[in-house]
Amino acid sequence: MTDIVVLGSTNMDLVTYVTKAPQRGETVTGREFRTVPGGKGANQAIAAARAGGDVLMIGAVGNDAYGTHLRSTLEHSGVDTDDLRTAEGPSGTAHIVVDDEGGNAIVVIPGANGTLDHLSPGDEGVIASADILLLQLEIPLPAVVAGAQAARRHDVRTVLTPSPAQPLPDELLAAVDLLVPNEHEATTLTGRTDPREAATALLDRVPEVVVTLGAAGSLYVTRGADPLTVPAPKVTAVDSTGAGDTFVGALAVALGEGRPMPDALAWAAAAAALSVQREGASASMPYRPEIEARYA
Ligand code: ADP
Repeated sequence: MTDIVVLGSTNMDLVTYVTKAPQRGETVTGREFRTVPGGKGANQAIAAARAGGDVLMIGAVGNDAYGTHLRSTLEHSGVDTDDLRTAEGPSGTAHIVVDDEGGNAIVVIPGANGTLDHLSPGDEGVIASADILLLQLEIPLPAVVAGAQAARRHDVRTVLTPSPAQPLPDELLAAVDLLVPNEHEATTLTGRTDPREAATALLDRVPEVVVTLGAAGSLYVTRGADPLTVPAPKVTAVDSTGAGDTFVGALAVALGEGRPMPDALAWAAAAAALSVQREGASASMPYRPEIEARYA
């Protein structure tokens, strides 16, 4: 089994569905309200565990009811939460208003995620025991950098999802093995809109890049080889929330099992295609037997 450690965020998504989002000073009646466990760290952990990885999450929830719910959601999917801290104060929340045209407006309050600004004693040992460390950018950057550098010291492969999109310091990218931006993030990092150009430009800073291209699949580049495009299965998408996290979680499992990159990308695409056919982020993530059946 692939040992995967995720260092990242947990959030409770508070999703309100309205016909039209309210303007400043306006009150509207909405249609529906849902609380959905999320955060890119937790989503990737759940995706990897369901895909068959042995997954441990380093993160923080608040000492509120959301924190209890987030922890049990992770455990229910088989994620080890021994290193998921409970911080004083609220859990991270994302306040999302979705209108009838599918447009959304989001306010993220980091809450407990904001307390993760450094590694704790013991974290380096946990990271050292992994095959792969998964990182995103929803916790304070110093902890992401420290995590990547700890992984580098112990020859653990690091995979970074550069989301939310932002310029990245060299000290972080110098410790990253595989960068997995979506098209928007690749453009933010390089100023280039063409994914192939953006990916190639990123090779100056990291050895391997996968740009995810939504329904068009993914593009893999590495130094000294031709770019490789891996298509996504043709499916009817119902909800693509969390597609990228499903993709990365499954990709990590496949790479840890020693699959060559083209096979690992096809396996990840199978997992992500299953997730977009169902509603929800973590709730829609497939379990290994479903991925095997879709991949075959
Ligand atoms: P993100 O969710 O981070 O914005 P993408 O939209 O690029 O990332 O999606 C990540 C992956 O999910 C894609 O590389 C693809 O494999 C899969 N995917 C996303 N949308 C679809 C779709 N409509 N049909 C099939 N696969 C999809």
